[in-house]
Amino acid sequence: MAIPIEPGGTIGILGGGQLGRLLALAAAKMGYHTHVFCPVENCPASQVTTKHTCASYDDLDALDRFAKSVDVATFEFENVPASTALHLTERVPVRPSWKALEIAQNRAKEKKFFTEIGADTAPWRPVHDFDNLTAALADLSTPAILKTARLGYDGKGQVRINVSSDAQQAWDLISAGADTANQDAPFAILEGLIQFSCEISVIAARGINGTVQCFEPVENVHRNHILHTTTAPAHISSDTARTAINIAERTAETLGLVGLVAVEMFVTPDGDVIVNEMAPRPHNSGHWTLDACQTDQFTQLVRAICGLPLADPLRHSNAVMTNFLGDEIEDLDRFHSDPRNHVYVYGKQSARPGRKMGHVTKLS
Ligand code: AMP
Repeated sequence: MAIPIEPGGTIGILGGGQLGRLLALAAAKMGYHTHVFCPVENCPASQVTTKHTCASYDDLDALDRFAKSVDVATFEFENVPASTALHLTERVPVRPSWKALEIAQNRAKEKKFFTEIGADTAPWRPVHDFDNLTAALADLSTPAILKTARLGYDGKGQVRINVSSDAQQAWDLISAGADTANQDAPFAILEGLIQFSCEISVIAARGINGTVQCFEPVENVHRNHILHTTTAPAHISSDTARTAINIAERTAETLGLVGLVAVEMFVTPDGDVIVNEMAPRPHNSGHWTLDACQTDQFTQLVRAICGLPLADPLRHSNAVMTNFLGDEIEDLDRFHSDPRNHVYVYGKQSARPGRKMGHVTKLS
């Protein structure tokens, strides 16, 4: 189908979580159909999409049928195999590209990418085996964090090493059941601990014509490594904000992506910005944009991947977004009574501890 993809077209979404659900709702508002590809029955996105293919990400026949039914494909879940996105790329436009996904999925590649674009990262060393880890600890000293190179999220796949004698236990935890034999790709990385005054993120959108628009920096507080609140705007100086926005812009431009990229960063007490990681998809720290900006991250993503002009993402209200984790979703009455609160429920069937079940954004 010629660019732009017109309303009535179909957006394919790989992954069926809350980000896919909110993306599908934004797409529906703009007249697009959505087809979600996710191996989980009754996933949050499938409840609001036009069509759901419930199949494994390596089911090539199902992927081929999916490709035929959509005009463009995107992903809402970072752990969709890059090979799945690559397979689709040969059949239908995939935005952002599988390459952006591949870099973001591997902490070592991601760190190298940020160094290449001139952004600071935490000091780090690749870790292939326990001897590497011991040498890396001698280099970086403690405290440090051992992180799996791949498939980590919400604090999964990472262990803090406070003193060198914790190394063996950390290694056992991180390497349990994993294939550590591939000498070409490090299985894990060791990262020096950053003393930060706050954590921030910036979401950049890049359109098909190369235009970049950023949502302003927001401040994120994590509890047990899971995002707890996002406050907009972040309490940072205008210089720090400019630096953060510039990093997000360069990330989107260098990746050449069409779509969104969220860049998470630490701000040091001196106001310096150190990149932690990126996600080339909508992001939990962008949920506030649904209620506090002229356009939101999901609408902006639809615009980008369908070849429409990007909107100005100006913020019109201050906002605090709070995630509902696990059984926090059961007591929503206290939020509904205040009209400044905007409550979202993701439709997940079981409220496991730490699971993101919904969120509330309070405007002021
Ligand atoms: P990540 O999965 O890398 O985003 O880590 C989750 C959270 O752990 C971050 O948002 C930080 O709060 C904390 N964290 C991760 N890496 C570091 C680091 N190098 N120094 C300090 N805190 C970190």
